[in-house]
Amino acid sequence: MEKRVLVLNLDHTPIAVVNVQKAMVLTYLEKVSVLADYAMHSIRTVDREYKYPAVLRLDEYKSVPYRGVMLNRTNLFRRDNNECQYCGSPKQLTIDHVVPRSKGGPTTWTNLITACHRCNVQKGDKRPEEVGMLLSRKPFRPSLSYFLADYAERNASEWIPFLEVKPIQAR
Ligand SMILES: [Zn+2]
Repeated sequence: MEKRVLVLNLDHTPIAVVNVQKAMVLTYLEKVSVLADYAMHSIRTVDREYKYPAVLRLDEYKSVPYRGVMLNRTNLFRRDNNECQYCGSPKQLTIDHVVPRSKGGPTTWTNLITACHRCNVQKGDKRPEEVGMLLSRKPFRPSLSYFLADYAERNASEWIPFLEVKPIQAR
């Protein structure tokens, strides 16, 4: 899995997560300081070896409007621990509108959940209560901290000292 790089503002507020290529460019342009590396990963060039940066800090304060976590398939599945929110299956995951689109259900964090193909078909164009299906938890809009802590716990323990919040056990 490709490593991600946490970018902190000058005041150490997390502001972005970028891929390693982007991180290397920022480092090359000397706009950032590397606060932590991934010990186990490096990039080899002709003349030297670079450690993968894990955490970068901007050298100048940047005013960043907080935009929240982008609603997309990957982030939705991640919020839901890559499990169907009806039966817990991790297989054949799809996106389900809890209140169906045909009944005016919006495409929002609080109306979308991860559902396996089987449950999605079973639920069809109904509300869960109409077909006797139960959600394992109420869908919510995740905060950036929630995501970062969750991600750090799974993939990037190097970030944890730079995150204020403790990793959350989702369940
Ligand atoms: Zn299911």
